[in-house]
Amino acid sequence: MGDTIFGKIIRREIPADIVYEDDDVLAFRDLNPQAPVHVLFVPKKAIATLDAATAADAGLLGKLLLAAAAYARSEGLAEMGYRTVINCNEHGGQTVFHLHVHLLGGRHMQWPPG
Ligand code: 5GP
Repeated sequence: MGDTIFGKIIRREIPADIVYEDDDVLAFRDLNPQAPVHVLFVPKKAIATLDAATAADAGLLGKLLLAAAAYARSEGLAEMGYRTVINCNEHGGQTVFHLHVHLLGGRHMQWPPG
């Protein structure tokens, strides 16, 4: 799997509205937000899909989720709640093949998703 638009954002080759960064994780606002808060948490390591992650990535996957939860808390979303989503491959609706966690908040979510 080649480079993606998220790789370019991580390397600062294209702009993004970055809201969080640490050694392993970058988070930026989705270009086409589906909720008042819609932020993407991406590992700096390029893993194409959740299916491509291995046991060696366990810590990194945990960091992504904890970074999303901490950001949601800092934005005051935690009490009312929010949704995290990882789309995987075609039926999952994945369009960018660099693993990412969507954080959606600020409105009531429906279940099941369409
Ligand atoms: P997926 O469908 O792969 O789970 O989610 C990809 C997400 O990336 C979509 O919600 C889409 O709006 C967002 N996206 C695609 N290209 C860009 C971009 O260049 N910049 C930003 N910030 N978001 C993007």
